[in-house]
Amino acid sequence: MRKINTKHTWSLKLGLLLAIVCAPFFLQAKTTLIHAGKLIDGASNQASKQMTIVIEGNLIAEVVKGYREPKADDFYIDLRQHTVLPGLMDMHVHLDSEYGKNSYTEKFTLNSADRAIRAVINAEKTILAGFTTVRNPGDTDNVTISLRNAIDSGLVVGPRIFSAGKSLATTGGHADPTNGVRDDIFADPTPADGVINGRDDAFKAVRARYKSGADLIKITATGGVLSVAKSGQNPQFTEAEIAAVVEAAKDYDFTVAAHAHGAEGIKRAVRAGVDSIEHGSLMDQEGIDLMREYGTYYVPTIMAGFWVAEKAEDPDFFPEIVRPKALAIGPVMQETFGKAYRAGVKIAFGTDSGVSAHGDNAQEFIYMVEAGMPEMEAIQSATREASKLLRINTTLGTIEQGKLADLIAVEGNPLEDISLLKNIAFVMKDGTVYKQID
Ligand SMILES: [Zn+2]
Repeated sequence: MRKINTKHTWSLKLGLLLAIVCAPFFLQAKTTLIHAGKLIDGASNQASKQMTIVIEGNLIAEVVKGYREPKADDFYIDLRQHTVLPGLMDMHVHLDSEYGKNSYTEKFTLNSADRAIRAVINAEKTILAGFTTVRNPGDTDNVTISLRNAIDSGLVVGPRIFSAGKSLATTGGHADPTNGVRDDIFADPTPADGVINGRDDAFKAVRARYKSGADLIKITATGGVLSVAKSGQNPQFTEAEIAAVVEAAKDYDFTVAAHAHGAEGIKRAVRAGVDSIEHGSLMDQEGIDLMREYGTYYVPTIMAGFWVAEKAEDPDFFPEIVRPKALAIGPVMQETFGKAYRAGVKIAFGTDSGVSAHGDNAQEFIYMVEAGMPEMEAIQSATREASKLLRINTTLGTIEQGKLADLIAVEGNPLEDISLLKNIAFVMKDGTVYKQID
């Protein structure tokens, strides 16, 4: 026994010695040098002109003024005609689905594998649209957890994913997977299925998400537009139930995102300590004041509002129970966003893509600017602010020395025309180029 240990220690020592001696050769990372005509770094409120970004491996090694000459063996990228920005972050996407007329029957026809294949395609569309990080608050069969793992291990192309796995609802709530379905088709859903009632269930459900490998918790604190249920806004959790979810989530370092349209559900969720309110459509002044007091992030998803309102004009698109909800809630979201922004509520960019088409995410910037948010702040909501909500702001969200090299570029100046963000010319994630300029 002792002999084996000694041998083992010797080989370990030899290995360590070799590692120390050889490290400088092995760790000699490839250097990429980028000339940026304009740089919006996510940290400063001003854009800077004619900058050089030096990337070693997957890290930003230096950001310097002026165009530094590339060395002979540097990989050089000429973005002198472009504006360079941090990789964009969307805090609300559902990569495993995309809404259509058949969505309600697909619940019975699609297998996990079908969803997974679609998720892979949607992930690629999303990163090529300049979104290098996304939060996926709610999926089916933990498809986006598997997708995250596949992307992280380099099997498929896509953004960094922070996934909630299956959302949590109460019985009959917005994310109850058995809503609108004949009684004998599904058994009464459990906390593992995402349905909870009371404190013990809340703990069990959060722990089940930890076991599945989720990154955060998502609850549906009020009714929602697209579920087969009557109200799009009634409160569906007691404040004590939300507090129990938040308490359980803390043990696992999970943040909690709360879908909420109605004013009462928004207030309960904020007071119970959630990290973000998703949609927030019917937020009242008291809700706005509470959001400010608690420092809760607001993820507006204006795009989803306009999308459902437009589709509701077609009498055949939605089930009859959904249509009036879409007409009532969809159109007010942009105005609520404007009010909350002017009141000083913290905003993190989010689209609910998967309601609207994946890859169209940047349309949200246009709606935010239309509602009165300056272009620079809209960009920061999708970079620095989003990284704070995800608690990854020490490694991502801005273009600064020591951060991971996630950056994108567009032709022209998005501070003068925010719609330019719909045409992404260049995408780098973790030091690897996914989209190269022509
Ligand atoms: Zn959603």
